[in-house]
Amino acid sequence: MTGRTQIAIIGGGVAGIEVATSLGRGGKADVTLADRSLSHVWKPMLHTFAAGTARADRQKIDFFAQARRNGFRFQPGSLIGIDRSARCVRLAVEAAQGRPEIEIAYDLLVLAIGSRANDFGTPGVAEHCLTIDDLTEAERFHRQLRRHLLARLDSAGMLTIAIVGGGATGVELAAELKHAIDLLAAYGSPDLPQRLRLTLIESGPRLLPAFPERVSRAAARTLSDLAVEVRTGATVTGADASGFSLKDGTRIAAGLKVWAAGVKAPDVLATVDGLERSRTGQLVVGPDLRTTRDPAILALGDCASQLDGKTGKPVPATAQAARQQAQHLARHLGRALDRGDTATVALPPFHYVEKGAIVSLADFNGWGTLGRYTFGGGRLNGLSARLTHDLLYRQHQIGLYGPLRGTVTWLLDDLDHMISPPVRLD
Ligand SMILES: Cc1cc2nc3c(=O)[nH]c(=O)nc-3n(C[C@H](O)[C@H](O)[C@H](O)COP(=O)(O)OP(=O)(O)OC[C@H]3O[C@@H](n4cnc5c(N)ncnc54)[C@H](O)[C@@H]3O)c2cc1C
Repeated sequence: MTGRTQIAIIGGGVAGIEVATSLGRGGKADVTLADRSLSHVWKPMLHTFAAGTARADRQKIDFFAQARRNGFRFQPGSLIGIDRSARCVRLAVEAAQGRPEIEIAYDLLVLAIGSRANDFGTPGVAEHCLTIDDLTEAERFHRQLRRHLLARLDSAGMLTIAIVGGGATGVELAAELKHAIDLLAAYGSPDLPQRLRLTLIESGPRLLPAFPERVSRAAARTLSDLAVEVRTGATVTGADASGFSLKDGTRIAAGLKVWAAGVKAPDVLATVDGLERSRTGQLVVGPDLRTTRDPAILALGDCASQLDGKTGKPVPATAQAARQQAQHLARHLGRALDRGDTATVALPPFHYVEKGAIVSLADFNGWGTLGRYTFGGGRLNGLSARLTHDLLYRQHQIGLYGPLRGTVTWLLDDLDHMISPPVRLD
């Protein structure tokens, strides 16, 4: 122990890596970031890796390198428990590290371990459906897609894919898959797009429930123009090897089945005694992101359930909200540490600023609403919405790399885009 404040951050996704980088650069505390993966990826890009229209290796940020450049320590490992009285977390680590688990002591613990799709216990989903909640799962989907495609490139067979969940993930994945299949037609199978049967299933009355109705209608129209069958008001009652059963008794045949509906907290949070949790398992936090029953534990991003410090409305589980919480925490905790305050000092309440909701349908279309408070509630369509969607990611990347490296990386990506094949099958 150094006598300095020990801050442990678990989960280096959209929120966690921004907090670690910012506090590490500040240099006023000993910051350790732990993640079960060795590299960070921007989760809202996972569907493009799954479809093969973007390459993950160009977009990954190596945690060890990021830690070395920004003054924090990286510890690989998966959270398996928290001892609140001893103030330490337990991580399962690879056997290669010589022991099955290690402990990290903390004065302040920041949990940012994200969320997973929620199958609500629907029979057959766990056994027969793929999810796209992390890079490993996106790559598994891509391998399966490739297997199905290769079997049909020079045969007359149908390629059947069904996605459950009409939120941004499901809608964006459907469009990205259609885009990938159109591109693949040029690889010697011109009728492949006609042999694709792609179905998007949503239990609610419309797609994109978090967006204004005009965006839902436009998205449904674009998807149906692309020959994606959109089934709204359709509740899935079960999945099996050959497809989905719906509550109204109909069947949807699908060789590839994706579950992209609902959000729930990772199961490990249920093992932590004494903390307040929401119905879907997220840790309930107060306005300053501290858990309601333990001020030494904070949670942010998708694994936290928070009411806005000003409006009292639930803060949404989006990348935009996760980034804002991370920036709020890093700024105010950084200032408190600069003043020499203890890590458990009260922080100002967090207020979420809706900067607009953007959805991007591959190269086909995009829509967005600009935030009421920031841009007067304007609308984005087509190319401008798609570019704004990309800009959210680039802001994140520039924040992590710094302006020079971030801009060079962006430029290199654009150059790479010009010379690489538009879709990969390797
Ligand atoms: C396909 C897809 C498209 C999306 N599109 C959009 C969009 O367009 N706009 C938008 O705002 N949001 C979008 N989202 C949602 C957005 O990605 C999340 O809201 C955001 O990533 C949440 O950030 P986070 O930091 O809470 O969690 P994450 O970014 O998920 O990071 C969690 C981190 O915790 C690590 N972790 C998990 N469990 C453990 C453990 N037990 N031990 C150690 N580490 C662990 C993970 O490896 C990961 O690095 C999309 C999501 C998906 C899946």
